[in-house]
Amino acid sequence: MSNLDRQATPTVCGGRGFVVAEPVRELLSPRRVPLGESTEVRRLLPNLGRRMVGAWAFVDHYGPDDIADEPGMQVPPHPHMGLQTVSWLHDGEVLHRDSTGSLATIRPRELGLMTSGRAISHSEESPRPHARFLHGAQLWVALPDAHRQVEPHFQHHTDLPVVSAPGLTATVVLGSLDGATSPGTTYSPIVGADLALARGAETRLPLDPDFEYAVLAMSGEAHVDGVPLMPGSMLYLGCGRTELPLRAESDAGLMLLGGEPFEEEIIMWWNFIGRSQQEIEDARRGWMDGARFGEVKGYDGAPLPAPTLPPTPLKARGRVR
Ligand code: MN
Repeated sequence: MSNLDRQATPTVCGGRGFVVAEPVRELLSPRRVPLGESTEVRRLLPNLGRRMVGAWAFVDHYGPDDIADEPGMQVPPHPHMGLQTVSWLHDGEVLHRDSTGSLATIRPRELGLMTSGRAISHSEESPRPHARFLHGAQLWVALPDAHRQVEPHFQHHTDLPVVSAPGLTATVVLGSLDGATSPGTTYSPIVGADLALARGAETRLPLDPDFEYAVLAMSGEAHVDGVPLMPGSMLYLGCGRTELPLRAESDAGLMLLGGEPFEEEIIMWWNFIGRSQQEIEDARRGWMDGARFGEVKGYDGAPLPAPTLPPTPLKARGRVR
Protein backbone atom coordinates (compact mmCIF):
# COMPACT_ATOMS: atom_id res chain seq x y z
CA MET A 1 0.00 0.00 0.00
CA SER A 2 1.00 3.57 -0.42
CA ASN A 3 0.76 6.72 1.54
CA LEU A 4 -1.69 8.54 -0.73
CA ASP A 5 -1.73 11.69 1.36
CA ARG A 6 -1.48 14.61 -1.06
CA GLN A 7 -0.39 16.91 1.77
CA ALA A 8 2.36 14.54 2.89
CA THR A 9 4.53 16.17 5.52
CA PRO A 10 7.94 14.79 6.44
CA THR A 11 8.27 13.16 9.86
CA VAL A 12 11.47 12.67 11.82
CA CYS A 13 11.28 9.31 13.62
CA GLY A 14 13.49 6.97 15.59
CA GLY A 15 16.09 7.61 18.26
CA ARG A 16 15.78 6.67 21.90
CA GLY A 17 13.89 9.86 22.79
CA PHE A 18 10.43 8.39 22.27
CA VAL A 19 11.10 4.92 23.67
CA VAL A 20 9.58 4.11 27.07
CA ALA A 21 12.04 1.92 29.01
CA GLU A 22 9.47 0.39 31.37
CA PRO A 23 6.14 -1.35 30.76
CA VAL A 24 3.34 1.12 29.95
CA ARG A 25 -0.18 0.92 28.58
CA GLU A 26 -0.60 3.76 26.11
CA LEU A 27 -3.73 3.54 23.97
CA LEU A 28 -3.27 4.88 20.43
CA SER A 29 -6.29 6.06 18.46
CA PRO A 30 -6.31 5.66 14.71
CA ARG A 31 -6.29 8.52 12.24
CA ARG A 32 -8.73 7.95 9.39
CA VAL A 33 -7.04 8.35 6.02
CA PRO A 34 -8.86 8.10 2.67
CA LEU A 35 -7.22 5.65 0.27
CA GLY A 36 -8.49 6.06 -3.26
CA GLU A 37 -12.14 6.83 -3.89
CA SER A 38 -14.00 4.29 -1.80
CA THR A 39 -11.57 3.00 0.81
CA GLU A 40 -10.55 4.39 4.15
CA VAL A 41 -7.75 3.10 6.34
CA ARG A 42 -7.00 3.57 10.02
CA ARG A 43 -3.43 4.78 10.52
CA LEU A 44 -1.90 3.78 13.85
CA LEU A 45 1.73 4.67 13.09
CA PRO A 46 3.07 7.27 12.83
CA ASN A 47 0.75 8.60 15.52
CA LEU A 48 0.69 11.78 17.54
CA GLY A 49 3.51 11.30 20.05
CA ARG A 50 4.31 7.74 18.96
CA ARG A 51 6.13 7.28 15.69
CA MET A 52 7.88 3.90 15.81
CA VAL A 53 7.75 0.61 17.69
CA GLY A 54 11.15 -1.02 17.22
CA ALA A 55 11.81 -0.76 13.48
CA TRP A 56 8.04 -0.73 12.73
CA ALA A 57 7.48 2.72 11.25
CA PHE A 58 4.06 2.58 9.61
CA VAL A 59 0.86 0.68 10.46
CA ASP A 60 -2.41 0.90 8.53
CA HIS A 61 -5.43 -1.26 9.39
CA TYR A 62 -8.20 -1.56 6.80
CA GLY A 63 -11.56 -3.32 6.63
CA PRO A 64 -13.35 -5.59 6.93
CA ASP A 65 -14.91 -3.90 3.88
CA ASP A 66 -17.60 -5.43 1.69
CA ILE A 67 -16.14 -4.98 -1.81
CA ALA A 68 -18.45 -7.44 -3.61
CA ASP A 69 -19.62 -4.75 -6.04
CA GLU A 70 -16.54 -2.54 -5.90
CA PRO A 71 -13.06 -2.57 -7.40
CA GLY A 72 -11.59 -2.86 -3.88
CA MET A 73 -7.94 -1.98 -3.43
CA GLN A 74 -6.48 -0.13 -6.40
CA VAL A 75 -3.09 1.34 -5.57
CA PRO A 76 -1.21 2.34 -8.75
CA PRO A 77 2.57 1.95 -9.17
CA HIS A 78 4.50 3.99 -6.60
CA PRO A 79 8.06 3.90 -5.26
CA HIS A 80 9.64 2.91 -1.93
CA MET A 81 13.10 3.48 -0.46
CA GLY A 82 14.78 2.49 2.81
CA LEU A 83 12.09 0.13 4.11
CA GLN A 84 10.32 -3.21 3.92
CA THR A 85 6.58 -3.51 3.41
CA VAL A 86 4.60 -6.28 5.10
CA SER A 87 1.19 -7.24 3.70
CA TRP A 88 -1.00 -9.23 6.10
CA LEU A 89 -4.57 -10.26 5.37
CA HIS A 90 -7.40 -11.70 7.43
CA ASP A 91 -9.86 -11.67 4.49
CA GLY A 92 -9.62 -11.24 0.74
CA GLU A 93 -6.57 -11.13 -1.48
CA VAL A 94 -4.10 -8.58 -2.87
CA LEU A 95 -2.39 -8.86 -6.24
CA HIS A 96 1.18 -7.54 -5.98
CA ARG A 97 3.37 -6.48 -8.92
CA ASP A 98 6.78 -4.87 -8.62
CA SER A 99 9.70 -3.53 -10.61
CA THR A 100 11.80 -6.66 -9.97
CA GLY A 101 9.20 -8.59 -12.01
CA SER A 102 7.28 -10.11 -9.07
CA LEU A 103 3.67 -11.08 -9.59
CA ALA A 104 1.99 -12.65 -6.56
CA THR A 105 -1.46 -13.00 -5.03
CA ILE A 106 -1.28 -12.62 -1.25
CA ARG A 107 -3.99 -14.48 0.66
CA PRO A 108 -5.02 -14.55 4.33
CA ARG A 109 -2.20 -15.58 6.72
CA GLU A 110 0.45 -15.44 4.01
CA LEU A 111 3.40 -13.08 4.23
CA GLY A 112 4.01 -10.62 1.41
CA LEU A 113 7.36 -9.04 2.28
CA MET A 114 8.88 -6.48 -0.06
CA THR A 115 12.35 -5.16 0.70
CA SER A 116 12.79 -1.89 -1.16
CA GLY A 117 16.46 -1.46 -0.32
CA ARG A 118 17.62 1.57 -2.30
CA ALA A 119 14.73 1.60 -4.80
CA ILE A 120 11.68 -0.39 -5.85
CA SER A 121 8.23 0.37 -7.22
CA HIS A 122 5.07 -1.70 -6.95
CA SER A 123 1.29 -1.76 -7.37
CA GLU A 124 -1.35 -3.46 -5.24
CA GLU A 125 -4.85 -4.29 -6.36
CA SER A 126 -7.82 -6.48 -5.59
CA PRO A 127 -7.79 -9.13 -8.34
CA ARG A 128 -10.84 -9.67 -10.56
CA PRO A 129 -12.82 -11.59 -9.45
CA HIS A 130 -12.14 -11.17 -5.72
CA ALA A 131 -13.56 -12.32 -2.40
CA ARG A 132 -16.42 -10.32 -0.90
CA PHE A 133 -14.52 -9.01 2.15
CA LEU A 134 -11.17 -7.30 2.38
CA HIS A 135 -9.51 -7.00 5.78
CA GLY A 136 -5.85 -6.56 6.55
CA ALA A 137 -2.91 -4.56 7.75
CA GLN A 138 -0.13 -2.86 5.83
CA LEU A 139 3.06 -2.29 7.76
CA TRP A 140 6.49 -0.83 7.07
CA VAL A 141 9.78 -1.75 8.69
CA ALA A 142 12.62 0.81 8.58
CA LEU A 143 15.92 -0.57 7.28
CA PRO A 144 18.97 0.26 9.42
CA ASP A 145 21.70 2.31 7.76
CA ALA A 146 23.94 -0.73 7.23
CA HIS A 147 21.33 -2.46 5.06
CA ARG A 148 19.24 0.23 3.45
CA GLN A 149 21.05 -0.02 0.10
CA VAL A 150 20.37 -3.77 -0.33
CA GLU A 151 19.12 -5.11 -3.66
CA PRO A 152 15.33 -4.77 -3.87
CA HIS A 153 13.51 -8.09 -3.58
CA PHE A 154 10.11 -9.63 -2.84
CA GLN A 155 9.30 -12.70 -0.75
CA HIS A 156 6.01 -14.56 -0.56
CA HIS A 157 5.77 -17.09 2.28
CA THR A 158 2.63 -19.21 2.43
CA ASP A 159 3.69 -21.50 5.27
CA LEU A 160 4.63 -19.63 8.45
CA PRO A 161 5.58 -21.13 11.82
CA VAL A 162 2.88 -21.27 14.48
CA VAL A 163 3.16 -21.18 18.27
CA SER A 164 0.19 -22.56 20.21
CA ALA A 165 -1.12 -22.24 23.75
CA PRO A 166 -4.61 -23.07 25.06
CA GLY A 167 -6.96 -20.69 23.23
CA LEU A 168 -4.13 -19.02 21.29
CA THR A 169 -2.69 -19.63 17.84
CA ALA A 170 0.23 -17.28 17.15
CA THR A 171 1.57 -17.13 13.60
CA VAL A 172 5.09 -15.72 13.39
CA VAL A 173 4.95 -13.20 10.55
CA LEU A 174 8.42 -11.68 10.95
CA GLY A 175 11.33 -12.30 13.33
CA SER A 176 11.03 -14.74 16.23
CA LEU A 177 8.50 -15.51 18.94
CA ASP A 178 8.89 -18.15 21.66
CA GLY A 179 11.59 -19.99 19.68
CA ALA A 180 9.78 -20.01 16.32
CA THR A 181 11.24 -17.92 13.48
CA SER A 182 9.59 -16.57 10.33
CA PRO A 183 11.36 -17.30 7.03
CA GLY A 184 11.00 -13.61 6.10
CA THR A 185 14.34 -11.77 5.87
CA THR A 186 14.90 -9.23 8.66
CA TYR A 187 17.59 -6.59 9.08
CA SER A 188 17.14 -5.69 12.77
CA PRO A 189 15.94 -7.58 15.89
CA ILE A 190 12.18 -7.53 15.40
CA VAL A 191 8.97 -9.51 15.79
CA GLY A 192 5.58 -9.42 14.12
CA ALA A 193 3.03 -12.07 15.08
CA ASP A 194 -0.64 -12.67 14.34
CA LEU A 195 -2.50 -13.69 17.52
CA ALA A 196 -5.75 -15.59 17.01
CA LEU A 197 -7.54 -15.89 20.37
CA ALA A 198 -10.54 -18.14 20.98
CA ARG A 199 -13.47 -16.87 23.04
CA GLY A 200 -12.71 -17.31 26.73
CA ALA A 201 -8.95 -17.66 26.20
CA GLU A 202 -6.74 -16.46 29.01
CA THR A 203 -3.03 -16.83 28.42
CA ARG A 204 0.40 -15.20 28.67
CA LEU A 205 2.73 -14.59 25.76
CA PRO A 206 6.50 -14.68 26.42
CA LEU A 207 8.24 -11.41 25.51
CA ASP A 208 11.82 -10.12 25.28
CA PRO A 209 12.44 -7.39 27.91
CA ASP A 210 14.90 -5.61 25.56
CA PHE A 211 12.20 -5.10 22.91
CA GLU A 212 9.52 -2.45 22.88
CA TYR A 213 6.07 -3.70 21.88
CA ALA A 214 2.61 -2.70 20.73
CA VAL A 215 -0.52 -4.71 19.95
CA LEU A 216 -2.88 -3.86 17.08
CA ALA A 217 -6.47 -5.04 17.49
CA MET A 218 -7.98 -6.28 14.20
CA SER A 219 -11.19 -8.05 15.27
CA GLY A 220 -13.20 -9.22 18.29
CA GLU A 221 -12.97 -8.20 21.91
CA ALA A 222 -9.69 -8.78 23.69
CA HIS A 223 -7.99 -7.47 26.81
CA VAL A 224 -4.26 -6.89 26.51
CA ASP A 225 -2.54 -6.49 29.89
CA GLY A 226 -6.01 -5.74 31.27
CA VAL A 227 -6.85 -3.03 28.72
CA PRO A 228 -9.90 -3.66 26.51
CA LEU A 229 -8.98 -3.05 22.86
CA MET A 230 -11.45 -2.13 20.14
CA PRO A 231 -10.68 -3.28 16.57
CA GLY A 232 -8.68 -0.58 14.81
CA SER A 233 -6.88 0.63 17.92
CA MET A 234 -3.38 -0.08 19.16
CA LEU A 235 -1.84 -0.38 22.61
CA TYR A 236 1.79 0.69 23.09
CA LEU A 237 3.42 -1.42 25.78
CA GLY A 238 6.95 0.04 26.24
CA CYS A 239 9.95 -2.17 27.10
CA GLY A 240 10.95 -4.34 30.06
CA ARG A 241 8.30 -7.03 29.79
CA THR A 242 8.93 -10.78 30.02
CA GLU A 243 5.31 -11.72 29.30
CA LEU A 244 2.02 -10.28 28.15
CA PRO A 245 -1.36 -11.24 29.66
CA LEU A 246 -4.08 -11.78 27.02
CA ARG A 247 -7.78 -12.44 27.51
CA ALA A 248 -10.54 -12.78 24.90
CA GLU A 249 -14.27 -12.09 25.43
CA SER A 250 -14.98 -13.31 21.90
CA ASP A 251 -12.88 -14.81 19.13
CA ALA A 252 -10.34 -12.06 18.52
CA GLY A 253 -7.54 -11.21 16.09
CA LEU A 254 -4.52 -9.17 17.23
CA MET A 255 -1.10 -8.35 15.85
CA LEU A 256 1.91 -8.18 18.13
CA LEU A 257 4.58 -5.77 16.87
CA GLY A 258 7.92 -5.40 18.61
CA GLY A 259 11.62 -4.97 18.27
CA GLU A 260 14.77 -3.47 19.62
CA PRO A 261 14.28 0.31 19.87
CA PHE A 262 15.40 1.83 16.55
CA GLU A 263 18.26 4.12 17.53
CA GLU A 264 18.89 5.86 14.21
CA GLU A 265 16.87 8.94 13.48
CA ILE A 266 15.18 8.74 10.11
CA ILE A 267 13.16 11.02 7.89
CA MET A 268 9.94 9.57 6.58
CA TRP A 269 8.17 11.35 3.73
CA TRP A 270 5.49 9.94 1.43
CA ASN A 271 6.74 6.41 0.61
CA PHE A 272 10.40 7.03 1.37
CA ILE A 273 12.61 6.64 4.42
CA GLY A 274 15.91 8.52 4.25
CA ARG A 275 18.46 10.22 6.43
CA SER A 276 18.54 13.72 4.92
CA GLN A 277 16.34 16.18 3.09
CA GLN A 278 18.66 15.81 0.09
CA GLU A 279 18.07 12.05 -0.09
CA ILE A 280 14.31 12.55 0.01
CA GLU A 281 14.49 15.22 -2.71
CA ASP A 282 16.68 12.99 -4.88
CA ALA A 283 14.26 10.07 -4.43
CA ARG A 284 11.29 12.25 -5.36
CA ARG A 285 13.06 13.44 -8.50
CA GLY A 286 14.18 9.87 -9.32
CA TRP A 287 10.55 8.75 -9.25
CA MET A 288 9.15 11.67 -11.23
CA ASP A 289 11.78 11.44 -14.01
CA GLY A 290 11.43 7.64 -14.18
CA ALA A 291 15.16 7.00 -13.88
CA ARG A 292 15.55 5.22 -10.58
CA PHE A 293 12.66 3.05 -9.41
CA GLY A 294 12.17 0.74 -12.38
CA GLU A 295 8.89 -0.12 -14.01
CA VAL A 296 5.83 -2.06 -12.83
CA LYS A 297 4.52 -4.10 -15.75
CA GLY A 298 0.88 -5.11 -16.20
CA TYR A 299 -0.96 -2.61 -14.01
CA ASP A 300 -3.93 -1.10 -15.81
CA GLY A 301 -3.44 2.59 -15.00
CA ALA A 302 -0.97 5.42 -14.63
CA PRO A 303 1.67 5.53 -11.87
CA LEU A 304 1.09 7.75 -8.82
CA PRO A 305 2.75 11.15 -9.04
CA ALA A 306 4.71 12.23 -5.96
CA PRO A 307 3.23 15.03 -3.87
CA THR A 308 5.10 18.32 -3.58
CA LEU A 309 7.83 18.34 -0.98
CA PRO A 310 7.43 21.17 1.54
CA PRO A 311 10.34 23.63 1.45
CA THR A 312 11.20 23.36 5.18
CA PRO A 313 14.53 21.55 5.47
CA LEU A 314 14.63 18.54 7.77
CA LYS A 315 17.48 17.01 9.68
CA ALA A 316 17.83 13.58 11.15
CA ARG A 317 20.48 13.38 13.81
CA GLY A 318 21.78 9.88 13.18
CA ARG A 319 22.03 7.47 16.09
CA VAL A 320 20.39 9.01 19.15
CA ARG A 321 20.27 7.47 22.62
MN1 MN B 1 3.54 0.58 -1.25
